[in-house]
Amino acid sequence: MDFLSARVESLAVSQTLAMSQKSGELRSQGIDVINLSVGEPDFHTPDHIKEAAKRAIDENFSFYSPVPGYMSLREAIAAKLSRENGLNFSPAQIVVGNGAKQALCNVILSTVNPGDEVVIPTPAWVSYVEMVKLAEGKSVTVPSGIESNFKVTPAQLEAAITPRTKMILLCSPSNPTGSVYTRDELQALVDVIAKYPDVIVLSDEIYEHINYTGEFTSMASFPEIADRTVIINGVSKAYAMTGWRIGYCAAPLAIAKAVSKLQGQYTSGASSIAQKAAEAAYNGSQECVAEMCAAFRRRRDLVVKLAAEIPGFKVNEPMGAFYLFPEVSGVLGKKFGDKVIATSGDLAMYLLEEAHVATVDGAAFCAPGYIRFSYATSDENLTEAMARIKAAVEKLK
Ligand code: PMP
Ligand code: GLU
Repeated sequence: MDFLSARVESLAVSQTLAMSQKSGELRSQGIDVINLSVGEPDFHTPDHIKEAAKRAIDENFSFYSPVPGYMSLREAIAAKLSRENGLNFSPAQIVVGNGAKQALCNVILSTVNPGDEVVIPTPAWVSYVEMVKLAEGKSVTVPSGIESNFKVTPAQLEAAITPRTKMILLCSPSNPTGSVYTRDELQALVDVIAKYPDVIVLSDEIYEHINYTGEFTSMASFPEIADRTVIINGVSKAYAMTGWRIGYCAAPLAIAKAVSKLQGQYTSGASSIAQKAAEAAYNGSQECVAEMCAAFRRRRDLVVKLAAEIPGFKVNEPMGAFYLFPEVSGVLGKKFGDKVIATSGDLAMYLLEEAHVATVDGAAFCAPGYIRFSYATSDENLTEAMARIKAAVEKLK
C-alpha cells in the first residue's frame, strides 16, 4: 500500500541537513569528521538573551502565545526595521514563526497557486525550490556563476518573467554563495520588477548582519515595490540562535493576515520562551552581532586563502553570510583508484569518506560543479579541513 502523498514523495530531502546528519553519524562511530556542511553560527547565544529566556520561564510565559507572536516581540521587530532599515512596518504586518524557514514557507503557501511561477536566481538555498513544489508552483531558476560573483543581471531577471510569474525570491547576502548585491545592483533589478506590478518580491534577509560590505539595503526600502515586498528575517544567524526557532515575515497587511490564518491552523504561535529571548535580542545591545560578524570575516579571509591553494578549485571572495562556494570542475573526471569523481556530488562524498570533511554538493543549490563550505567554525578546524581537502584532491589522478 502506498501510504505517502504525492506531495511529500516529490520533495527532496534537505541536503544541508542530510550531510550534517551523516557527519554526526560518522563522528559517533569515532571518526574525526570536520563538519563544514550545515550553515549555523558556532557561537553560543549571548548571555543577556539566555537570561531573558530564563526569566520568561520564571515569569510563567508558559501559555499559548498569539498566533502571529507576542505584541511586544512584534513591536521590537517593527522598531528594528525602523532603526536599522528605515522601514515603516506596523506590528500587524509582522508574523513570527518557527524560524525564517517557516516564515518563508508560510508566505509561499499563502500566495502561490498551483502552476504559478516563482523566479529564483541560483545558486539558491536548498529549501526554496522544495517549498515552491509544496505549493504546487513552478520554480523558474535564473543561473549565475562564479564569473559574475554569482549575481544575476537585470536582463536575465526580465527574461525569466512571464505572465504566470507570481513571485521573485531573492536572497542577499546569499546562501550558498555569500554574494551581496550593492544598492545600485538591487536598484537595477527593482527597475525591472517595477514594470510588473502583480509580482510579489520575497526577500530573504536572514544574513543581513553577516555582511562585510558595510552596507545593507532591504528590498522593502525601494518605494517602487515596497507595497508588494515581503521581508524574511529572524534571530538564527545574527544572534547565534538557530535552535530557538524564531523568524518572521514583514509583509503587506493582506499577506500578513493570510500567513497568520495559515499558521493558526498548523503550528499556532511560536515557542513562548524563545519569543521572549528574541525580544531581548532585538531590544538589547547589538555589540554581540558586530563581534560575531568580525569573527566570520576573519575566517572568510582564512578560508579563501587556503581554498585558493587547492588544485582545481576556483574561489571568489564572498562578501557576506558564512559560505564559500568554490567551482570544482577542474577536479571532475579525475580518479581515485578506479573510482571516477564525475560530479560535484561524487567529490563531496569523496571528501567526506577520504578527507573526513563534510561539505554540501552544489547541485543541492541548483549549481552542479560547485561545492559549499560553511566556514562558521574555528580557525583550527578550517585550517585542518582545508589541509585535508588539499591532500585528498592531490591524490586524484
Ligand atoms: N533562509 C536561508 C537563506 C537560510 O540559510 C536559512 C538557514 N537554514 C533559513 C532561511 C532558515 O533559517 P531559520 O533557522 O531561521 O529557519
Ligand atoms: N541555513 C543552513 C544551511 O543552509 C541551515 C540548514 C537548513 O536549514 O538548510 O545549511
